[in-house]
Amino acid sequence: MTGNEVRKKFLEYFKKHNHQVVRSSSLVPQDDPTLLFTNAGMVQFKRTFLGEEKRDYVRAVTSQKCVRAGGKHNDLENVGYTARHHTFFEMLGNFSFGDYFKEKAIAFAWDLLTNGYGLPADQLWISIYLDDDEAFRIWREDIGIPEERIVRLGEKDNFWAMGDTGPCGPCSEIHIDRGPEFACGPDCKLGCDCDRYLEIWNLVFMQYNRDASGKMTPLPHPSIDTGMGLERVASVLQNVPTNYDTDLIMPIMRKAEGLAGKKMSDSAETEVAIKVIADHSRAMAFLIGDGVLPSNEGRGYVLRRIMRRAIRYGRHIGLTRPFLHETAGVVFDIMKPAYPELSESRAFITNVIRNEELRFSETLDKGLTLLNETLAGMAAQGRTEVPGDVMFRLYDTYGFPADIVQDVVRDREITLDMKGFDARMAEQRKKSRSVVSFTGIGEAYKTLSASGVKPEFTGYTALSAEASVL
Ligand code: ATP
Ligand code: MG
Ligand code: MG
Ligand code: MG
Repeated sequence: MTGNEVRKKFLEYFKKHNHQVVRSSSLVPQDDPTLLFTNAGMVQFKRTFLGEEKRDYVRAVTSQKCVRAGGKHNDLENVGYTARHHTFFEMLGNFSFGDYFKEKAIAFAWDLLTNGYGLPADQLWISIYLDDDEAFRIWREDIGIPEERIVRLGEKDNFWAMGDTGPCGPCSEIHIDRGPEFACGPDCKLGCDCDRYLEIWNLVFMQYNRDASGKMTPLPHPSIDTGMGLERVASVLQNVPTNYDTDLIMPIMRKAEGLAGKKMSDSAETEVAIKVIADHSRAMAFLIGDGVLPSNEGRGYVLRRIMRRAIRYGRHIGLTRPFLHETAGVVFDIMKPAYPELSESRAFITNVIRNEELRFSETLDKGLTLLNETLAGMAAQGRTEVPGDVMFRLYDTYGFPADIVQDVVRDREITLDMKGFDARMAEQRKKSRSVVSFTGIGEAYKTLSASGVKPEFTGYTALSAEASVL
């Protein structure tokens, strides 16, 4: 089953069960200033769950574009290293707004996985929240899962909350045992965070309202929010070891291999680099498609970090000319059936990527030389921390986000002096503020508006702080 077919089957299954098929919302959350990017299917329904917005349906199904590369959910550093994490991915989800609850949600999920997709029932494992005996009973008695394959996990994995207050409730996750060859060691078990018991689907049972004192009262109309990773299910159905090996991503990696004249099998490092390039190519195409542009603040800075990280990995495998606009080109072809609008912006997106590549290429090599000389100097003196001053020069003069330095020193006993770096940044901000106040912000604004430049919304203060410079 192709990735596009997996997505279609999901939407059709829930449509058949009276769910409204709703389009994915933008990666830039429309009315949620607390969130950097849409990171789950429920984001576009937040106000519906809160009862602030009424829709003319009580069941919905989506395939939602998600980015987890900053803020509370940040999988950026997992990319290239685990079989299952991306910065950009699609989350398939069914939702009930005060309509069906736990029993039906579990029955739907089980039916679709085993009968619809034909997954082997005896390899599926269930996790539930510690005290959720109701979920235990449904899985055990109604569905017939043996007790030893139902695992109780704590708050971190199996309790969901919209925020410190508001709707919350236990979750139940469905995992598939990919076999002992995926185990992280002899003690490997569900919940240990490796790729063996692959989490494919999370069912959230929104059943309480938490107040400021932490007290939870049952919601009058409990709701359902679920999320299943498209690329993960595709990897299982296509019987390949990682998400990257599916038809949703492999063609991008092949393109990168071709451009570099290297194979992933050449070395572990080459494999990581190519996976990062493929993952980030998807993220940048979709982010730019949703109106984010590389910049030095907020969302734009996360995009820039993603792009520059990919460019640096490219350089590592010998890609010295701009290549990302070409690997991103493959994304349009793969995604065209589901996201035709992305292809319509192809020329624009390609241009933005190429410009960023050209811009960063000018300074990347010089920055790498400075970093490598610094590392050599540190080794000679037995020092293990990259000084904040160097970090600042790399950032300020050569456009290096700190992630790049982190990537270069990964797996070595080296730390980064982020405190020193932050201090230099603060100093610089203070200086630039005094320049602005000297000119007068009003004057500067008038000059810009007169020349047709509109002030760009770069997020609320909390947002910029969250995205900060890392
Ligand atoms: P994990 O524990 O593997 O990091 P999660 O518990 O953080 O996953 P959820 O927040 O429950 O994930 O999201 C719902 C589903 O979305 C997951 O069950 C998984 O299938 C998928 N998913 C989550 N994060 C990613 C990611 N970074 N890349 C690809 N798919 C993801
Ligand atoms: Mg996670
Ligand atoms: Mg999890
Ligand atoms: Mg989960």
